[in-house]
Amino acid sequence: MKRMEFLKLSGGLAMAAAAGKSSAQEGKKLHLVSLSFDDGFKKSFIRTAEIYEKFGLSGCFNVTAAGNRPESPIVDDYVSPGQLGDFALWNELQARGHEIMPHGHHHEHLDRLPDEEARKLIDSCLEIFAAGLKGWEAKRAVFNFPYNDATPLLEAWLPSRVRAYRCHGEMINPLPHPGTTKIGTGGFGPGNAEEDLDQAIADLLSLDSGWLVYNLHGLDEEGWGPIRATYLEKLLARLRTIDSVRIVPTARALAQYAGVKKS
Ligand SMILES: [Zn+2]
Repeated sequence: MKRMEFLKLSGGLAMAAAAGKSSAQEGKKLHLVSLSFDDGFKKSFIRTAEIYEKFGLSGCFNVTAAGNRPESPIVDDYVSPGQLGDFALWNELQARGHEIMPHGHHHEHLDRLPDEEARKLIDSCLEIFAAGLKGWEAKRAVFNFPYNDATPLLEAWLPSRVRAYRCHGEMINPLPHPGTTKIGTGGFGPGNAEEDLDQAIADLLSLDSGWLVYNLHGLDEEGWGPIRATYLEKLLARLRTIDSVRIVPTARALAQYAGVKKS
């Protein structure tokens, strides 16, 4: 089970990279928190969005382009096509202020495919997003690798297609800067991820600055490494009381805290 290898990637030290006129540059602490929800569970994503909206926050949702289609169904032990939402729902959530980003064409193992085939699937995924999601632009997007499994070739190529990509790596990243293209993430599963997430947040807050990108999936019993809806609500309430914390989706973190990518 590839996902088992994903178990417990603990957060690492992050150096605060200069990021525009950030709080960090002004000598204040700045902790960005991106809870990055994968796969596109209809029930869980609707509930997650509602919880974020209670706090006036934007969720970070990563979905497949075509994993709900009969001709290219998602194949995974922890998610089935019938659980997935569609672009009608993604447009609705986006219109409500949430971020919707690509998570593969149909959740394929891109690292196991020939490079050319992998690129074609990524391009197809991005085309489906551009056609299906109102106002969505690849150049501002974060591509979230299925299983977080990238390859050096794909990593070198993707910045020509998207703003940045998310894959296995230290889940506490430096603050975004104009050259940021690779976003590290980690998570815990297949059981409940709450204890691990609490520790990751404690690790982040022990630093002067950093950007935690923690990979989650569904709520309650749904998906790999779930958290409870009640836990998420309490967590967001707690984080909102900490002055240095900003809860932001990943592409928005790049747009707000990194500025324009250097060419
Ligand atoms: Zn996934």
